[in-house]
Amino acid sequence: MQSAQLNLPDYSLSPQQVPQYMPAFLEKEERDALKDEIVELLAERNAVLVAHYYVDGDVQDLAEQTGGFVSDSLEMARFGRDHASNTLIVAGVRFMGETAKILSPEKRVFMPTLEAECSLDLGCPPDAFEAFCRAHPDRTVVVYANTSVQVKALSDWVVTSSVGLKIVEALAERGEKILWAPDKHLGRYIQHKTGADMLLWSGACVVHEEFKWKALRDVMSIYPGAGVLVHPESPAAVIDIADAVGSTSQIVKAAGELPHEIFIVATDRGLFHKLRQRYPHKRFIEAPTAGTGATCRSCAHCPWMAMNELQVLAHVLRDPARLEANEILVDPQVGRRAMIPLERMLNFPNS
Ligand code: SF4
Repeated sequence: MQSAQLNLPDYSLSPQQVPQYMPAFLEKEERDALKDEIVELLAERNAVLVAHYYVDGDVQDLAEQTGGFVSDSLEMARFGRDHASNTLIVAGVRFMGETAKILSPEKRVFMPTLEAECSLDLGCPPDAFEAFCRAHPDRTVVVYANTSVQVKALSDWVVTSSVGLKIVEALAERGEKILWAPDKHLGRYIQHKTGADMLLWSGACVVHEEFKWKALRDVMSIYPGAGVLVHPESPAAVIDIADAVGSTSQIVKAAGELPHEIFIVATDRGLFHKLRQRYPHKRFIEAPTAGTGATCRSCAHCPWMAMNELQVLAHVLRDPARLEANEILVDPQVGRRAMIPLERMLNFPNS
């Protein structure tokens, strides 16, 4: 079965819509001093730090050292919900902070910066998406976690890249037709694997969309024994030559399970921190993004994830007023509606 495509506008972001964010260079001594300060400030504020694999490696380490957590968006959400602390600091992008707040409305959720967006979230405006849903009332609405609380509230299911395939497969087996948003590459990948009848929105991730199969083939010819690990937000031609396709957590797992000593990895370079920590005897090479003569919007690092810098986190934690200004607030009614499809995902068997 083919995935259906509407005459939707292209909701991918143009290069002009993507910030050029350059993290500040800090000497080791400066980084160490900031880390010590953040450890104290987290304790002072009774806060737990939950970080995504794509943020600064030192921020990831701090989360783990202080009793917090580093993972993909699904496990971040689950950890935040289940942790005893009433104050969560989410180092990632806005939809991750919102997801934490939806699942734990009684907790206070803060972020190092509220400017950390996501091209998929930005590329799925709630009004346009609502009209899309209204035009197809016969379809089950499945949205990726990388969406706003308003878009989640319009959905039947929220999924992440680690469980999207299994959930769509189960829905298709029940004969349900799917309306999928916002990532067209992940949607096509799931449609291809499951054969589900899927109507696709046309958003894209500015990081993964940049991976180029021709340039990847060139790198593979330099490292003929290397394994290729690919995130499914990448274009189909890149996915087609992968040894393993999966979410960030699934990529980390595959790197340990596959026998290769060298891997070419098509995902945000922030994940290399965990890969190198976990498998110090293996070698990890970034998959090429630009190719000959092409431009690069992200160069394999999400500009919004990059905003979660050590000094930004310290700056916000130092001053209660600044922290307060960075609180994630969700309309309670919309949050309650969005919690239904999120909990469906969290309760899905083996999710
Ligand atoms: S890496 Fe892509 S999907 Fe992840 S937050 Fe950045 S833009 Fe969004």
